[in-house]
Amino acid sequence: MSDFTVLRADAMLTPGGVVTPAELEFDSGGSITYVGPPRADSSVTHDLAGHALMPGLVNGHTHSAMTLQRGVSDDDDFMTWLGKVQDVEQRLTHDDLVAGLELALLEMIETGTVAFADMYYWDEELIERVRASGMRVFAGLACSATDHVAYPTVSPITGAEVLDETERLAAKYREDPLVRVGFAPHAPYTCTPEFLREVRERAIASGIPIHTHVSESAAEVAQLTEQYGKTPGEHLDSLEFFDANVHAAHCVHLTENEIVTFARTGTSVSHNPVSNLKLGNGVAPLPEMIASGVRLAMGTDSVASNNSLDLFEELKHATILHRGARQDAGAVLAPSTLHIATQGGAEAIGFPLSGALEVGKFADVIAVDLGVTTFAPLQATALVSHLVFGATGRDVAHVFIGGRHVYADGKHLTLDAAAVRARATEVRARLTA
Ligand SMILES: [Zn+2]
Repeated sequence: MSDFTVLRADAMLTPGGVVTPAELEFDSGGSITYVGPPRADSSVTHDLAGHALMPGLVNGHTHSAMTLQRGVSDDDDFMTWLGKVQDVEQRLTHDDLVAGLELALLEMIETGTVAFADMYYWDEELIERVRASGMRVFAGLACSATDHVAYPTVSPITGAEVLDETERLAAKYREDPLVRVGFAPHAPYTCTPEFLREVRERAIASGIPIHTHVSESAAEVAQLTEQYGKTPGEHLDSLEFFDANVHAAHCVHLTENEIVTFARTGTSVSHNPVSNLKLGNGVAPLPEMIASGVRLAMGTDSVASNNSLDLFEELKHATILHRGARQDAGAVLAPSTLHIATQGGAEAIGFPLSGALEVGKFADVIAVDLGVTTFAPLQATALVSHLVFGATGRDVAHVFIGGRHVYADGKHLTLDAAAVRARATEVRARLTA
């Protein structure tokens, strides 16, 4: 058996442009060894005629186990929604988290996502479930205060112990190419300055990254302005929080000064347009963040505020939303959002070898079915346009992560899809009984 795997397709999206027709080769270690036009002497492993290859999508912000809460609060304002969601979280068991996480893995894989940044309860068993699925995770252990227990029926550990646990897990998985572990203090309006200072100090000392929420709603900005006389970003900056490696979700209400601070400190932002729209939180200043050089990722947030994990939806929304809001068709361009949802996100959440089809990078590659009606009339050179404005996650036919084939012709190779869906439905019935 050959040590190399060769994919042939009608088209391929590379950093240098669209290649048509195309070939991609990776070695047994899952690293890309060739991208370009088909070579005469290749022995083709997967003939993906009728498909286009592109880098797998990267979800910059989610709470994966919250798939269990899909549709529990669809028409509430943000703070009411948060109250309902946290009420359900008081009753979650560890088995429930497994069920919710696996449902999320299922949905992410079948819609072409290969890596995700998460903030929730995490431990070895849950991380191992992700590893078994083949996906890459930046797992942030959620916490909000030194003495607070976030998931009482899952684990009795307090926020202080969560920080210790984060350091232990980060050390354990330090060399694992699929796993990155981070601190995840919930937000500046739910964490005290003292707690945020402790997280910052630990993060700088250990090199462990931080995943948090910043300026998601106007209510948050009003609360912090009243409490500290500062906006959320100014408040965090005054704590020198951004000296650590920080990944901030939402950032809907960033001021010009905050954008400058984020760009200067290398703080990355996950733009989550659908969640921001659904919860009525507003429109983040994406064009300004792009122009200022802020490191950007694209995220779905949890399905409790989305209600899907399909990043193709975010791609289209992120591209057209600002055009409509500003009456400017040039406000955000398709190649820019596609970059954010792939390479930009991969770099932002700590998987710099994912996100692009080029030699030396991970073979994190998905094949999109070009035979669907929304791609007709087909023009391979218009691939970026088809992918951003026309594609949905349902068009994804194959997913390879680090060369591992995890999804083939609509079938999961690492998860029992029917069992995962049935289990989640059972758990949901109990949680809402
Ligand atoms: Zn969130």
